[in-house]
Amino acid sequence: METYKIAENKIFHAAGRDFIFLAEDNTIFEMDDRIKGILKKPCHAEEFTQEDAFAKLSCPPEEKNELFDELIRSRALVSSKGKSDARRIDFEKMSIQLKTLVLHVTDACNLGCRYCYYGDAGHAASAKAKMSRKVAFRAVDFLMENSVDLKEVVIVFFGGEPLLNLDLIRLIVDYARKKATEKEIRIDFAITTNGTLLNDKVIGFLRENNIGVTISIDGFEKVHDRFRRFPNGAPSYGAILPGLKKLLADKEGKPVVARVTVAGESKYIPEILDHLLSLGFSEAGFAPVTTSDLSYQLSLGEMEHLLSHFKMLSETFIDHAKRDEFYGFTNLVDNLVVLHEGERKDYPCGAGLGLFSVDTKGHLYLCQRLTGEASSCMGDVFSGFDRLLLSRFRQQAFISEKKACTECWVRKICAGGCYHEALVREGGLAEPNMHYCQWIKDWVELGLSVYGRLAVECPGYLEKLSMLRGHEPLMNHSI
Ligand code: SF4
Ligand code: SF4
Repeated sequence: METYKIAENKIFHAAGRDFIFLAEDNTIFEMDDRIKGILKKPCHAEEFTQEDAFAKLSCPPEEKNELFDELIRSRALVSSKGKSDARRIDFEKMSIQLKTLVLHVTDACNLGCRYCYYGDAGHAASAKAKMSRKVAFRAVDFLMENSVDLKEVVIVFFGGEPLLNLDLIRLIVDYARKKATEKEIRIDFAITTNGTLLNDKVIGFLRENNIGVTISIDGFEKVHDRFRRFPNGAPSYGAILPGLKKLLADKEGKPVVARVTVAGESKYIPEILDHLLSLGFSEAGFAPVTTSDLSYQLSLGEMEHLLSHFKMLSETFIDHAKRDEFYGFTNLVDNLVVLHEGERKDYPCGAGLGLFSVDTKGHLYLCQRLTGEASSCMGDVFSGFDRLLLSRFRQQAFISEKKACTECWVRKICAGGCYHEALVREGGLAEPNMHYCQWIKDWVELGLSVYGRLAVECPGYLEKLSMLRGHEPLMNHSI
């Protein structure tokens, strides 16, 4: 006789209602009274028959069949015979479809931020290297060749400080546009900059070419200048402010976002966000610094502090949502969109899948933060991907290969976490980031609670957030 069990889940309450998050599928359902008797069980290991299930459904007998089928279809109930989605993947045959190429147009930087990871990965020796036109054009061709049938590709300018090589960026933009037109695909550009070299000319260029800008800025002057200084020790906040204000005043270009590195302590997070939004940034995202240096790394206590700030900001976010306004707290937006889209992640991010980074010599790395790290080098733009290395990496990094993550209820969202973080903190690219498991679970749980409240109190708002991130409208998730 066929037996069933409740799918692995997390039950949560929000806005006076009960919801269930299904861990394997990354889906969320509101539980009505008819199904609470069966789903509201602490243990998902218990097996039962269809007859047992019928006894726990609170609905008229004639509706039980349909309701039971619905629970099976939605995978809230699954067969008790092992994991239904055990997949066999031939990693050597996995395709490569390149969508985003991050170009390190220079290794040089005019700042000397104290916590900068860039010093960790073998950059010191080539700190002044610039990408040549030959490497850059070859990288563009490589992107076009390997994007296969994608209709849209992205080039991100990164460094060092990429605006130190603005002449090359100009050439790349022209060349890449020409190549994209020939291939009849769309191309987008983005840049991550420290903001020190923004002036009218640069801002005009960014706007004319619709280049998305991310500014690395750590907050208001006192916080920003703790670590983000020039090599001679001079503070940088005052130096970036005039250009930054001009950039942010220009509403013709794409919205400008801020990336905040949280280092040493996690004080002032709400004040930092308010400051950045009041300057004119559309959003700001916070990332704890990745370093093994204890003087910058956030302690467990500081990480908890960070989470309590995130909780406060989430309340502000909900207040804005109730007025149908947007509050640019990137971390929460991303958390909510992942939940809303129900994307089941086998890998934590696009690194090594659709995204690669190119160093000044043309070597291909898994991502921008791993550029220069030998163990993440996957070939070069002249001779192509090292397919064996890449397939080995993809196999090792696959979530099902991370034994420590097998029973984790956020595994299809976290997927073991950032490879760069894993390398620095856990000693290997494909190691699960066990040092922040509890934090990430608490953060997803907070996201679930906000999700439930928004779903009930601001219908349609979650959909808008998803569309803001470029997703198509979805069907309603609730049963
Ligand atoms: S790293 Fe930790 S939180 Fe992430 S999937 Fe693995 S066990 Fe879960
Ligand atoms: S590996 Fe880490 S730093 Fe690199 S793209 Fe992924 S999440 Fe970002």
